[in-house]
Amino acid sequence: PAQSMEELVSLCKRRGFIFQGSEIYGGLQGFYDYGPLGVELKNNLKASWWRANVYERDDMEGLDASIIMHRMVLRHSGHEATFSDPMVDNKKNNKRYRLDHLVKDQKADVIGKVAEAMGVEAENFPALVAALNANPAKASEALRAAGVRDAFSGEVGEWTEPKPFNMMFKTTIGPVADDDSYGYLRPETAQGIFTNFKNVVDSTSRRLPFGIAQIGKAFRNEITPRNFIFRVRELEQMEIEFFCVPGTDEDWHAHWLEKRLKWWEDQGVPRGKIEILDVPKEDLAHYSKRTYDLMYDYPTLGHEEIEGIANRSDYDLGSHTKNQDELGLVARVEENHDSIAKLTIPHPETNKPVVPFVIEPSAGVDRAFLAVMAEAFTKETLENGNERIVLKLRPHLAPIKVAVIPLARNREEITTVAKAIKAELQGLGLGRVLYEDSGNIGKAYRRHDEVGTPFCVTVDFDTVGIGSGDNASDANLKDTVTVRDRDTLAQERVRISELSSWIQAKLR
Ligand code: ATP
Repeated sequence: PAQSMEELVSLCKRRGFIFQGSEIYGGLQGFYDYGPLGVELKNNLKASWWRANVYERDDMEGLDASIIMHRMVLRHSGHEATFSDPMVDNKKNNKRYRLDHLVKDQKADVIGKVAEAMGVEAENFPALVAALNANPAKASEALRAAGVRDAFSGEVGEWTEPKPFNMMFKTTIGPVADDDSYGYLRPETAQGIFTNFKNVVDSTSRRLPFGIAQIGKAFRNEITPRNFIFRVRELEQMEIEFFCVPGTDEDWHAHWLEKRLKWWEDQGVPRGKIEILDVPKEDLAHYSKRTYDLMYDYPTLGHEEIEGIANRSDYDLGSHTKNQDELGLVARVEENHDSIAKLTIPHPETNKPVVPFVIEPSAGVDRAFLAVMAEAFTKETLENGNERIVLKLRPHLAPIKVAVIPLARNREEITTVAKAIKAELQGLGLGRVLYEDSGNIGKAYRRHDEVGTPFCVTVDFDTVGIGSGDNASDANLKDTVTVRDRDTLAQERVRISELSSWIQAKLR
């Protein structure tokens, strides 16, 4: 695995996985562009999630809802009121920080002083942040007295009182910018699922339990975007809302925890690298009955959330439904007089309308991308003493499945055969197969090691039965190619007529 974030960032840029957004104008903080190889890996990752969660189950439907949503959706979801992080400003240089990030980045003795001033244990970081948040005046004084330093200037800052900062992007809709003509870019894909609950039920005749899965962009105006693609302002999520009969929710929660850990393992992210955080009651989001955060051990960053699996009770459908009073809701919801739909489904045994409970496994595509890259990243010393970087991605994730390399790029006998092989392999539907004639073979191998191409197929002089230089061609090798294995470096001669089935068997 990768030892540091820097080596990953450097590989991503060098080989065309990820670029800074708007780079030619100086870049835009918190926005990244996925390059030629990044888009392939990302698509493969999403396809793998979709396969496991939609196609391989019989209790799931898919959805692709719009990104800009009615402001009422985000009002009744609770986001207008509560989707905020505490923020503090440094009056000396007008820099703004997310409170918990600012404190976390200080030296241990400084954190200790802040905690002491606030009367909480320094070890209990969530409690410390909560205390700072709950008492803004005292917090500002504690940050100053402890000598909390500014991340930019390195100097002791002059800190304002923490205040909440709403992270939603608001945008004008239509040609007239009056007070009511605005909407929000969704801060999570989940709300599109809740607002379509009735549509999906009515159009598919689903009964409980069943889920709705969605992959798509979400937007959060993070106060301090950082750590490469770990915390960005435009992110992508893979989310499931699994609807079940109240009372069966805890069993389904356990089911999803297990399923999701298994999926991560199948992507090359082992269980041993994921800590399951059973989020303490006092730290739970307002909608949550219980949440497991999966904390992956990122290089340089340490354990950070890669996926949250929440039991959201009947909070969401209960918040978006009309006739809330008649439905016996368990969650505490705000009154809703705007919704025109009753979001219930017949109880499978009694047929009485019920608002189901929801289990939500919610994973970030960008954080998944980073974890998969980190696990695959390998530095090896070869027998000849040379070092190589190889990306040992699971084949289903590899951006390029096979590179077909003509040994001489201006010998038509060779290029014709190589192009025919590329076309045949491409037709297998494995993903991208690349005709690779960009440089010498040593360089090509090095590049394909670094981008994780499982196999390189080389078409040489023997393949086409012509000699090279003083050497006559080896008749035994006619109509065969060399296949090089990324991980073992073994080179095998394979008959062209058997190549497709050979590759298919290996990539299965
Ligand atoms: P954090 O505490 O790290 O800000 P969160 O608890 O706000 O994350 P959720 O609201 O649970 O995150 O979102 C579900 C998933 O979406 C996360 O597990 C993460 O993988 C992803 N995610 C959330 N915010 C970001 C972001 N700013 N950049 C990249 N991925 C994100």
